Amino acid sequence: MQLYGWLFESTFKLKPSRLEVYQGDKTIKGFEYSGGDIVLKEIHDIFSILNLDKPPYSEIEFLKCDDCDFVELCTKLNGGY
Ligand code: SF4
Repeated sequence: MQLYGWLFESTFKLKPSRLEVYQGDKTIKGFEYSGGDIVLKEIHDIFSILNLDKPPYSEIEFLKCDDCDFVELCTKLNGGY
């Protein structure tokens, strides 16, 4: 989401007043725009992860995954937690 804010700011030279996402349950969720420096740091972090030789270890577990919309798929692909 923040990347869209950065693209808006870069294109129109204005900070977005707010970011919104239309969710699967037909509600709109609003976010504050974090600013370009934070977005660029997040992009840098993503490319750093993509350039790792091996994917970072991230265990599938109850506290992290319970509210995630992908938990059924992840459990099926990774054998559950
Ligand atoms: S279930 Fe969701 S939070 Fe948990 S590992 Fe999969 S994608 Fe990540």
